[in-house]
Amino acid sequence: MGGRGVGSAGGGGIAGGSGVGLDIRSQTDVWSARHNPDNADYVDAINSGARAVQEDFPDLMDSVEHVNTATLGGADASSVLGFYSRSEKTVALNQRYSDVDVMNTTYDQSVASGFHPSRGNKTGTEAVAIHEMGHALTDHLAQKTGARDLDELSKTVVDRAYAATGGRGARATKAWAGKISGYAKTNYAETVAEAVADFYCNGEKAHANSKAIVAELKKLA
Ligand SMILES: [Zn+2]
Repeated sequence: MGGRGVGSAGGGGIAGGSGVGLDIRSQTDVWSARHNPDNADYVDAINSGARAVQEDFPDLMDSVEHVNTATLGGADASSVLGFYSRSEKTVALNQRYSDVDVMNTTYDQSVASGFHPSRGNKTGTEAVAIHEMGHALTDHLAQKTGARDLDELSKTVVDRAYAATGGRGARATKAWAGKISGYAKTNYAETVAEAVADFYCNGEKAHANSKAIVAELKKLA
């Protein structure tokens, strides 16, 4: 799971953050992709995942310029499920996993290993779309609140949620994030994105730490 910048992912991981350093070969807007009937289930799952988050943050899509399917090369071709590009304000999923059943299997393997939170009654495609929308949301709220960037706002949100759940001592936030998922320990941005994925996939069954993070995000909306 190494760190190519913040686009790190592995073992069925989800890339996040800037997308910088990823081997992106091409991207297609999902609505263009949907004209191929083979892509209908895939594109509809991406959009329903995105909508799940947007319903709570109605102006979020003002900050998302593109929702794409991307072809990746090299090691990223199979290790990256999706990414968020800060510079291009783009949420993208990996075209390699455009078969929703294949994505379900891949995602479930990562859940079984503790790398990602349960997808609840969502598809793996929706879960990944929700995770990437979590980055877009953090970026959106960072701009809205005047934070320097999404990393700074992520830290603020995690610190507040940690305190709200009774946490004491800043150095313990990594272990606290680990209650959400293994990948959530990567950095503050991934903590927030994994919490968003947990919350919008699992609802009331989401971990209390995920609920606390989403509650803090809602306060900023
Ligand atoms: Zn991420």
